[in-house]
Amino acid sequence: MSRSTRRPILALVGFGILVCLTAVGLWKTSGELPDYSAVSIQPEGIMGTECQLTAIVPRGREASAAPALATAEAELRRIEALMSSWLADSEISRLNRAGTAVATPLSAESLALLREARRLSDASLGAFDVTCRPLIELWRRAGASGVLPSEAALEHARTLTGWRQMRLRESDVLKGDGEARVDLGGIAKGYGIDRAAETLLAAGVRGGVVDVGGDLRIIGHGLDEGPVRVQIRSPFEASTWGEIALYGGAVCTSAHYARHFEIEGKTYSHIIDPRSGRPADAALSVTVVAPTALLADAWATALSVLGPEGLSILPRNEGVEALVFHGTAASWKTVTSPGFPVLIRNSSAGSTDGR
Ligand code: ADP
Ligand code: MG
Repeated sequence: MSRSTRRPILALVGFGILVCLTAVGLWKTSGELPDYSAVSIQPEGIMGTECQLTAIVPRGREASAAPALATAEAELRRIEALMSSWLADSEISRLNRAGTAVATPLSAESLALLREARRLSDASLGAFDVTCRPLIELWRRAGASGVLPSEAALEHARTLTGWRQMRLRESDVLKGDGEARVDLGGIAKGYGIDRAAETLLAAGVRGGVVDVGGDLRIIGHGLDEGPVRVQIRSPFEASTWGEIALYGGAVCTSAHYARHFEIEGKTYSHIIDPRSGRPADAALSVTVVAPTALLADAWATALSVLGPEGLSILPRNEGVEALVFHGTAASWKTVTSPGFPVLIRNSSAGSTDGR
């Protein structure tokens, strides 16, 4: 799960015609939606990043938002405790510690997410692969020591990566090698956002937004309210590139600027290309819109590996659309899937190229 503190997406500007008054707290509705209020909380210490949960409730009944928001917050914390590889007690950490040929029993929920992750590995032609944790660890150590990994170490980590090392069975996982590990950092946040959003809706609110580190899911939003507008950052500045307007679903961003490390003066992405075993360098930043945050999260990571060419395998029939920033600081460009441009509002004077 992410330890990022910089928000790839700058902010949620407004909930349709709702205008954000302060960073925390109540959003004011304009005259067009007089019957509802938006109430937000910003719980701390979730998934290592900033978090904002918003519930839309009938005007005059703002107090009813608090218990609904609390259940959504608890759901995010539950998913983190279950799936984070940063927490030694999580199920995933337990699986990672298991030895060769040892079966680790897992909850049905964790197993279902691992199955979905495996499906996404196939769909992304191996670009998204949660079994690449040995490579992630290798490059993390390289980043910490400032020394590039040896070819032998790289080759070893590559042999530990891949689904042949993780046999998903009915109620447990059998590891081919004790050193094989999984890392749900590219998908668990999205999954948690979806679960929290569904929990919020089940708690009886009219609608809401779950935003974790700039990745977010909108629920229960009707056309009456107008779109939710989300700002997208330029890849090399803390300025806004543009804004997209959504009536529901999710948006997630994977960005080189958000998290990277440096070795011998060169910066490397925190996303690994499992095919080469090396940090991905095909994109500067990727923003994906999808019906669920799980899909948006995973495809943002996959396209960070695949770059613009990955757009051709995007499952657009599942409602997934993407914006990819690529190139260099001196000259970057954007390219989108065919369905993305209709979402864009106010992109830097409609320009798709950097400076
Ligand atoms: P975040 O939004 O949390 O910054 P991303 O969604 O961009 O992160 O996912 C990056 C994280 O996914 C990495 O920190 C790592 O844990 C994991 N990861 C890195 N490369 C891959 C990959 N090729 N496939 C799946 N997960 C990956
Ligand atoms: Mg991701």
